[in-house]
Amino acid sequence: MSEAPGPTKAHDPVSGAPVRVAFVALGSNVGERFEHLHAAARGLGAMPATTIVGCSSIFETAPMGAAKFEFLNAVIALKTVVAPLPMLDVLLQLERSRGRARDEKWGPRTLDLDLLAMYGDEGPLAVTHPRLTLPHPGITARDFVLRPLMEIAPSLQVAGQRLDHHLATLPKSARTVRGRHGLPLLERAPFGVSVPLLEGG
Ligand code: ADP
Ligand code: MG
Repeated sequence: MSEAPGPTKAHDPVSGAPVRVAFVALGSNVGERFEHLHAAARGLGAMPATTIVGCSSIFETAPMGAAKFEFLNAVIALKTVVAPLPMLDVLLQLERSRGRARDEKWGPRTLDLDLLAMYGDEGPLAVTHPRLTLPHPGITARDFVLRPLMEIAPSLQVAGQRLDHHLATLPKSARTVRGRHGLPLLERAPFGVSVPLLEGG
């Protein structure tokens, strides 16, 4: 991601840790799919010093690769002091708590949580670690990520281009979204709100 958010000097008053905005993609194509997504959203909001600041609606998505079942997908924005690797550990723990098994690539999954990007005073975090790549390299290639992300952060830029540009130039084979549920994933969460750390850059 390349957009430079304006300076906010946002720090947690207790710990002094930097406050950042994180975007998390949620997906499920097995079992009680809505319940898996809701449980994940609750778990994300329960992280220490974390607030949900944006929540997309839920998208129905055709399976990619060898997967057989339709996915539900959504994106959540969090304001958080949790650092990237501890955040990944929370995501993997939430996946396990919904019975996620890791066998085949693109196989059925009760819950998939991907950390798309994190923004702080310093702009978008760039992380290259054996366990974590930020921004997530798949953002621009997936309509089931771009479309919910556009709902909650329409002015965001990824790889120097707006999200709607990436969506318009996606090949037909990457257009997998079949429909959209009208309500946001969390009914009482803000929907389509601006994310303060991204404004004014
Ligand atoms: P995928 O989401 O690509 O289908 P998995 O969910 O099985 O694959 O994730 C495999 C691994 O990807 C995770 O164990 C994690 O260490 C790694 N990974 C690297 N970057 C990220 C990221 N930005 N978000 C989530 N996982 C990531
Ligand atoms: Mg994943």
